Amino acid sequence: MRKYKEKSAGQRAIALERIKTLFKEAREVFKEDKELSNRYVELARKIAMKYKVGIPSELQKQFCKHCYKFLMPNINCRIRLHNKKVVYYCLECKKFMRFPYTKEKKAKK
Ligand SMILES: [Zn+2]
Repeated sequence: MRKYKEKSAGQRAIALERIKTLFKEAREVFKEDKELSNRYVELARKIAMKYKVGIPSELQKQFCKHCYKFLMPNINCRIRLHNKKVVYYCLECKKFMRFPYTKEKKAKK
């Protein structure tokens, strides 16, 4: 049991790295191929689910939680500060996402 857990912890670390890489690539290909960056997001989400790793909060802001499209500020997403909250407006599905406005705070866990 313990052995299995250790192994999965290692796998989760690898999964997290893959998620980060996918988002990085999504950002890079966005200008040329928006659909491909959406696919990268989808893949990253699948990995996150499979390995039960949370998508880091800074990456959660890079895709729409409603339509899961990759969001590029000023291109398909508008960002506003409102009442100490960051409001993201997805131009793909016309929905809002709100995040608490925090300055690089590593809270939780
Ligand atoms: Zn959306």
